[in-house]
Amino acid sequence: MERLNFVLPDFTRVSWVSETARTVWENRFTRLIQVWQILEWQSVKSGLRACGILVLSPTQLITLASEWITHGLVSLPLEVQSIAQYANASALLQVTGETPFLLRVAVGYPVAIQTLQQAITQQDEASISQLLGYPACCYHAFHQYCTEQNYLDMTWHSALASQQPSNADTQLIELPPRIETNLFWQALGLRLIPHHPCRYDCPASVELGRQMGQLMQTLGFTEEWQWLQTLLNFPVAWSVLHGIAEIKTPLLKIATTSDATSIKYSVHYQGQTYPTEGGQGLEFPYRLARQPVLTQSPSFQRGLAHQLERRS
Ligand SMILES: [Zn+2]
Repeated sequence: MERLNFVLPDFTRVSWVSETARTVWENRFTRLIQVWQILEWQSVKSGLRACGILVLSPTQLITLASEWITHGLVSLPLEVQSIAQYANASALLQVTGETPFLLRVAVGYPVAIQTLQQAITQQDEASISQLLGYPACCYHAFHQYCTEQNYLDMTWHSALASQQPSNADTQLIELPPRIETNLFWQALGLRLIPHHPCRYDCPASVELGRQMGQLMQTLGFTEEWQWLQTLLNFPVAWSVLHGIAEIKTPLLKIATTSDATSIKYSVHYQGQTYPTEGGQGLEFPYRLARQPVLTQSPSFQRGLAHQLERRS
């Protein structure tokens, strides 16, 4: 169970590229993390999946458990967790000075929660995954790499399943953008699917991400949906070496626990938009100020409008 929930890493360090980037985006991140918590249980209520697992502060659990009951949903606390492992703990907690631990809690309709409890007791990973809405293909990939081969991080494997390296010698994969399965911001809790996909073009995962985005709009989180779409379309450079994954985005860098590899593996997520407050540089994913900002070009705006029309 410990691994199945794709537990956030033991250590995660975040450094913003500038105060400007932080001023513009930090509050948006906090809001998006809070909206994701709502989506976790609303997706259960709306029948997208049988159960969800949330990480909550004790106070949040008390408030939410009462709300869930009014919808016929019940909660099952699973585990007490240290706050230290969560890079986004302050956003999760929402309140400062509270007890420094968090709870992992399952939510669902009573029959589903009973089934989940049995599956946890029997350590039946396949059933747990299915109840949480993870596509079978993604569960099998997770089982193969993380359970059988003890990998901590599936990023490289999922990228390799989607796209061949640009050059066999460089161990670099250039990944086309797909916001639904973009898990490069996962260490901060920013994402559209609750699991790691078997490949970044996994149809079942793309569909789940699409439905989660749709649910976000249905629930009225229009502004948050715009932020998330924009964010998930920024370019990201992911790399791993000697047990540390480094994730460079236009707004911030994340360093986090990963697999101890002896050589560097890199994935470049080819995002199509770049924030005006993003860091500048010659190396991917950074850009120089004089390069045109794609998000403001009329052709990009038309493309985005077209994409939105197709989704709605
Ligand atoms: Zn899959």
